[in-house]
Amino acid sequence: MSSLPVLVLNSGSSSIKFSVYEAGDGQRAKLHEGAVDGIGTDLGKFWIKDAEGNKLVDQTPALPTRAIAFKLVADALHSGDFPAPVAIGHRMVCGGPTVQENQLITPELIDEMELYTAFAPLHTPIACYIMRESLRLFPDVPNFVCLDSYFHRTMPEVVSHMPIPEEYSAMGVRRYGAHGISYESIVYQLQPNVPKKLIVAHLGNGASITAIRNGECLDTSMGLTPTGGIISGTRTGDIDPGVLLFILRKIAETGVTAAEAADKLEAVASKKAGLLGVSELSNDMRDLRDAIKEGNAKARLAVDKFTWTIAKWIGSYVAELDGLDMLVFTGGIGENDINARAEICAGLSALGIVLDPQRNNVRGEAVISSEHSPVTVRVIPPAEDLIIVNHVVRLLGK
Ligand code: AMP
Repeated sequence: MSSLPVLVLNSGSSSIKFSVYEAGDGQRAKLHEGAVDGIGTDLGKFWIKDAEGNKLVDQTPALPTRAIAFKLVADALHSGDFPAPVAIGHRMVCGGPTVQENQLITPELIDEMELYTAFAPLHTPIACYIMRESLRLFPDVPNFVCLDSYFHRTMPEVVSHMPIPEEYSAMGVRRYGAHGISYESIVYQLQPNVPKKLIVAHLGNGASITAIRNGECLDTSMGLTPTGGIISGTRTGDIDPGVLLFILRKIAETGVTAAEAADKLEAVASKKAGLLGVSELSNDMRDLRDAIKEGNAKARLAVDKFTWTIAKWIGSYVAELDGLDMLVFTGGIGENDINARAEICAGLSALGIVLDPQRNNVRGEAVISSEHSPVTVRVIPPAEDLIIVNHVVRLLGK
């Protein structure tokens, strides 16, 4: 049996998550998963578990920099205690207009993707940094980029084109979408019976919805950046541009430079808005549900805004798809928040979406629609790392 350990890297603002899959001889078995969390603090966490969930590494190191955090991962994987990767897959939100295919990473490719940092400002700089470190610390191992925007590349021009002056469109400003690897993984898990007309709602701290026709993306809610689309944990989602101009002018009145004003506006729209902005309490759905139980009206409004917007978006996607066969919920809220699913679907019976309260009373994978619902409603957890491994193996030519 040939061994083909593939490392999957998924880096966030304060953490680096990773998993190692055995992908030899067509198999896809997760061997290990782990994370370094708390980057930028004196008391971080570094852990690695085996496939059965046993903790093989459990440390609380100081993690002053991302470089130190990633070196811990590289050292562990070079130590001989774990299978050293023969290929590495990196998750990346968007590579810009010229990098749309998953491919081998070279220093030049990273430079090219970095030109479009503004298209995923919270994600791209970190992902590019980790890619460069990975080329340095794993010099003999091929590294591949797997893009969230890859799944959305089938959107028709009428959907992806933005209603802006052509000069900006020519700079690559258009709808790219995000969460594409999650959507790809839902379609993958539904094979071979992928419904013709499918809507998937990825509801996590970042939230988006996608209309999928014959297994391909037709439309997705996130736009140029992950700040567009539906309201999520800390992001506005789509909003009247006049609101942003109003806030920008208010910020400018404080006498900051244009660049500082842009940064502040970005922080307002992507870090301080959404569920957090409306509730003035938390971006975490669990906190909001607890607060609602105690009668917190702002938490109620934030959650209502969330579920209302999603229901509205589902309606528009049914129109685009000219019907609907299946609705899938995924992501932390989609998988776990029974109330959110019930609230979203409550007003959608005219679209053929009818939940069964008993079946919906679950966390994790299930069919939750009533027996007589014309549309099947399911909960399916994403399998993003598996999709990245599949792409890596394909690109390796194995
Ligand atoms: P993700 O970004 O996919 O990890 O999802 C994070 C979101 O899922 C947060 O808003 C969490 O509050 C939410 N979430 C996780 N578990 C639950 C739960 N049991 N009930 C409600 N929301 C949950």
